[in-house]
Amino acid sequence: MTLPETSSPAQLIVHPAWILPIIPRGEVLSEHSLVVRDGCISALLPTKEALQLAADQHVHLPSQVLMPGLVNAHGHSAMSLLRGVADDAPLLSWLRDHIWPLEAEFVSEQFVADGTELALAELLLGGATTLSDMYFYPDVTAQCVQAAGMRAQLVFPIIDVATAWARDSDGCLAKGLALRDDYRDHDLITIGFGIHATYSVSEPTLRKIATLTNELDAPMQIHLHETRGEVQSALEATGERPLELLARLGLLGPRSQCVHMTSLSREDIQQLVDSNSHVVHCPRSNMKLASGICPVHRLHEAGVNVALGTDGAASNNRLNMLAELQTAALLAKLERHEATALPAESALEMATLGGARALGLEDKTGSLEVGKAADMIALDLGRLQTQPINNIVSQIVYATSGTELTHSWVAGQCLVADGHPVTLNPAEIAERAAEWPEKFRAHQEYN
Ligand SMILES: [Zn+2]
Repeated sequence: MTLPETSSPAQLIVHPAWILPIIPRGEVLSEHSLVVRDGCISALLPTKEALQLAADQHVHLPSQVLMPGLVNAHGHSAMSLLRGVADDAPLLSWLRDHIWPLEAEFVSEQFVADGTELALAELLLGGATTLSDMYFYPDVTAQCVQAAGMRAQLVFPIIDVATAWARDSDGCLAKGLALRDDYRDHDLITIGFGIHATYSVSEPTLRKIATLTNELDAPMQIHLHETRGEVQSALEATGERPLELLARLGLLGPRSQCVHMTSLSREDIQQLVDSNSHVVHCPRSNMKLASGICPVHRLHEAGVNVALGTDGAASNNRLNMLAELQTAALLAKLERHEATALPAESALEMATLGGARALGLEDKTGSLEVGKAADMIALDLGRLQTQPINNIVSQIVYATSGTELTHSWVAGQCLVADGHPVTLNPAEIAERAAEWPEKFRAHQEYN
């Protein structure tokens, strides 16, 4: 578990009450410390030994558990400005009658910057260190993510209709590919393809994307089988299920991330297994829009990797991965009528290593293993709601309220210290976000 220690001081040594490395599975270390060199984990060793080592910084966390940062595998950060504007509507009416008209009127570089910073601050304080994002002006999102210091996969959005960002899907592809070139060698940001859905992108465009993703070996994320209605409409119109269409066009593979997947036949699941595709489960968004339930238990049984995502704040309305984790664990049991479905440990693995695998980042993040980047968070389990500590994993999954985060690091850089963001300014972010609701109200009243 240790690389040979050199005599030069370590960058950082963290001494928490517990370490939950995720790998090996089920292991909880106490009286252990974690050593960081050059942004990577160089050792996990007994605290007694670690205290003897020289380091630029020793951080003592006496009531905290240190664990991998959570991976939010699906979201639309800028939509946090639209939080609460259209609650309690089903997916298609929510999109067509509320969200799309507001986006057509308001989406701009400023909208994306203000909304994304709000989302990043909320995500960070809820335990996420890695996110996937699909939204217009991904170049602006990339700048915000870079300034925040988080790790991200940005899937540039592809949709046939004209938007403020691009005139059509060819425009989306041209701009997205240019962005991919700009971030080709970036340590923390990867650029992939974000197909809105099979009902909003034509088959010729999907063919082009298949050629490009295969040539470039690039990640692809798509909203897929979000509702039973989506699958039925596709069947009626074309005789094909959306997943079958992707398989036929060569769009399913180990770099494919299928988001939602609430309506799945046995053949669909086999298709996911055969193609090594990933599923991203967004339980709170699916519940709020009454879209359906992703059958996580069946997917796990079949061997499909499942990650976890918040989706955008307009359909959740929180961007808190601890809350998402808890919902996923509870919902899986209700769906199966089995209390053993999705145990706490499996839910936690989905939110960490499962997310990292889906985004193709498992060699860098998702567990606290020597050689991986030091992407990690500390949660304070000394609060009343997590007392007494009978079982660490159970407390994290079932008992946290989402506010327990005290520290966060990405590649060894401290992003939250003692509960305060280091790279982001919450007061400024809230002030800028507060300027938007009046504009939305004026537009909604006028129309
Ligand atoms: Zn989404």
